[in-house]
Amino acid sequence: MTHTLPSLPYDYNALEPHIDVKTMEIHHSKHHQGYVNKLNAALKNDPETAEKPLEEILRNPQEIPENIRQTVINTGGGHYNHSLFWKTMSPDGGGMASGELEEALIKKFGSFEKFKEEFSNAAATQFGSGWAWLSKDSSGELSVSSTSNQDTPLSKGLTPILCLDVWEHAYYLHYQNRRPDFISAWWEVVNWEEVAKNYSEQ
Ligand code: MN
Repeated sequence: MTHTLPSLPYDYNALEPHIDVKTMEIHHSKHHQGYVNKLNAALKNDPETAEKPLEEILRNPQEIPENIRQTVINTGGGHYNHSLFWKTMSPDGGGMASGELEEALIKKFGSFEKFKEEFSNAAATQFGSGWAWLSKDSSGELSVSSTSNQDTPLSKGLTPILCLDVWEHAYYLHYQNRRPDFISAWWEVVNWEEVAKNYSEQ
């Protein structure tokens, strides 16, 4: 299958003032598109891997032929991670989780605020480029983690339901070195409806 860049479910300027239009445009149309292009190029000569769904490829990285393994982990991860990132933000976002997801967060972290603290800390302390994650395991238990580069929690048997890109390209134009300010602003656009859907899906 040929991988394609998903359209954003909102305009490039829709997340202003929290995430600026220029950052969104470059991030989606250049960075994400770049991962998609390089992934397709890497898979071109390996039809067996190419026909698998991306999530399945990333869950079993040891099955990727060695000569393209790291490239597929990097570019396939880049495609997967950004696709989730765009969908879990919304101009109507912010606030807090509700329903079953809220209950699960409270059960795991003690309170919604404590969860936010733990997630923000994972995002702020990820050294260099990477991502912060909220994931569920096969029994529905939640966990917060961070990964380097474009690595995903899929390879650890987890299913990510919310992620935050802390590569400098995600915030540097507007926030420069102030990653914590970007993290605080991002909470204002989190699409909790979408995260709840990701949580309840099998
Ligand atoms: Mn990015």
